[in-house]
Amino acid sequence: MAYKKNKNSAQSADQSAQQNNADRSGVSKRVGKQKNTADKLTETVKNTVKTPKKKNATKKASAEKKTVKSQKTIEASEKRRDAAVKNTAASRDATVKNTAAAKDSLKKKAAGLSRYGSISPKELKKNSGVRIAFLGGINEIGKNLTVFEYGNDMIILDCGMSFPDADMPGIDYVIPDFSYIERNADRIKALFITHGHEDHIGGVPYLLKSVNVPVYATNLTIGLIEGKLREHRMLGISKLHVISPGDIINAGAFTVEAIHVNHSIPDSLAYAIKCDAGVIVHTGDFKIDNTPIDGGVMDLARFAVLGNEGVMCLMADSTNAERTGYTPSERMVGETLDSLFIKATGKRILVASFASNIHRVQQIVDAAKKTGRKVFLSGRSLENVTAISKALGYLNVPDDIIVSIDKLKNYRDEDVVIITTGSQGEPMSALSRMALGDHRKVSIGENDFVIISATPIPGNEKTVANTINDLMKLGAEVVYEKNLGIHVSGHAAQEELKLVMNLVRPQYFIPVHGEQKHMRKHASLAQNVGIAHKNITVPDLGSVIEVSKNRIRQLSPVTAGKVFVDGSGVGDVGSAVLRDRKKLSTDGIVIVTAITDAYSGELISPLEINSKGFVFVNNANELNGFITEACEKVLEKFENSVNMDITALKAKLKDSVAKILFDKTKRSPVIIVNVFAV
Ligand SMILES: [Zn+2]
Ligand SMILES: [Zn+2]
Repeated sequence: MAYKKNKNSAQSADQSAQQNNADRSGVSKRVGKQKNTADKLTETVKNTVKTPKKKNATKKASAEKKTVKSQKTIEASEKRRDAAVKNTAASRDATVKNTAAAKDSLKKKAAGLSRYGSISPKELKKNSGVRIAFLGGINEIGKNLTVFEYGNDMIILDCGMSFPDADMPGIDYVIPDFSYIERNADRIKALFITHGHEDHIGGVPYLLKSVNVPVYATNLTIGLIEGKLREHRMLGISKLHVISPGDIINAGAFTVEAIHVNHSIPDSLAYAIKCDAGVIVHTGDFKIDNTPIDGGVMDLARFAVLGNEGVMCLMADSTNAERTGYTPSERMVGETLDSLFIKATGKRILVASFASNIHRVQQIVDAAKKTGRKVFLSGRSLENVTAISKALGYLNVPDDIIVSIDKLKNYRDEDVVIITTGSQGEPMSALSRMALGDHRKVSIGENDFVIISATPIPGNEKTVANTINDLMKLGAEVVYEKNLGIHVSGHAAQEELKLVMNLVRPQYFIPVHGEQKHMRKHASLAQNVGIAHKNITVPDLGSVIEVSKNRIRQLSPVTAGKVFVDGSGVGDVGSAVLRDRKKLSTDGIVIVTAITDAYSGELISPLEINSKGFVFVNNANELNGFITEACEKVLEKFENSVNMDITALKAKLKDSVAKILFDKTKRSPVIIVNVFAV
């Protein structure tokens, strides 16, 4: 197996992750056989990529020595590079297979077998651009999903999910609407993933349930996707291919090249997507980190080479387009952590961060090691991601430093660091439960020093503030200001964005991955560096933008939107259900039951009125009177009508109850009316 060497310190905790490896597609087994089959293009591009990569590696190695990094880290990354070389061969294998598939499809086309009723060969000829459909990740930071189409072939880039807003009660996740993809299922050649964040991989199991396509991503990203597929009992359903920066994959009409970038999770990629119409560079989520913790500096040289060769269109991460300057290096956080750990001498330390920020976890472990503390993990996602990262060699943790949280009580406060999830104040997270005194294993007190190593994602400010207040009420010292350097972003700021544009020098520019304001700002930066206004298009959710040598234009949009995942149900909660949930949570429910005579329509017994969660309890009796009065008026009209229509009666009753309740209370509870004609 390609990365077997990395597992020399494997633990029982890692066994599930190791099991992953065994389950991977046959890619790695075929390593070696394929070396002769690599095509010339692959070789040429690989060569141009390798030079800068070596430089990075050397630079990185010396930097690490200086910062007292253990030799093991370097070894681990070298082993990963070994693995990368092998994986290249593996992906060539995939290339060969895909070429065969492409030939097959060409044959079918030549035989006049159009499998795609919607587009005729004639249309395809005159329509020679690349069509880019935006099914997610636009006007939001979440559920990224982009489809690239050329001729009859389609590839998908990323398939994420987003977390529900406060106005979506009871919803677990939000995923993109796949109907456009499902309609074109037989045209899709592959799914490429940029990195392992939820807004890029969270929707993968749901997509693969309806469209079975091969998935291409780096080692860690595939490891995280496998974890998800296992949860959904879908492992083995689709071929998962591990790729590395520099790899080139043929997918139908497209040739896709993976390029290394820096981000807040290791193993992140940009892609150069090539077809006869031209080259599109998609940055994925990125920043430029000149002193990264691991994995080397973003491959700027490759961006420059592509720029020299000519790039038709650049699509780039807009998340931090409003921030001036440069995003600081992740390494800065390590320095801050070191000084905070010294400040907290004698106290117990808790650090809240994102589970997927492996580099952050690495730096917390390093700081713990320096101060002789043991590390305890709290939070399921954190345990999962840490186990997978450790097994795949992305996390260098001495065997004895991580201790099960069950043994926490055996250690003195000054010997403990607890890493926890919940940096966004998520209600069910470990940190929120600790703050509410509701955590089974950790109770917060005056000897606790809490570091929130994250900034609130827009919209989460209030919940984060609540968590901080609650922790302080329990006596903890809490450090959270971002100017202290306890968190840095994983996304490029303005100067980095401009640098990438200047290296790539694209004909067209499309800002992606952001809210409208981020994309607009990014578009204006593009104009600043000299890209003509007419060559910049800001997409909308569902937009289809066609780019060709001659023009960039919007085509008619396709179906795109939100699908709610509620427990195990997908898409069975519509907006009407959500509206009811919102009403229930804010205004409660009122149930009116009328028992009437089936013939005369008269009330047989007094109306029964029940309410739950409805306001004005003290006025309830008075309100009951109003409701009864309103209902009786309606019933009178229906009395003795020839054919009493129960449905119409119920609707009438509901309307009048709603009206009277709104008149009297200015509230709109959910109203249920039962009429029993006996
Ligand atoms: Zn990301
Ligand atoms: Zn993202």
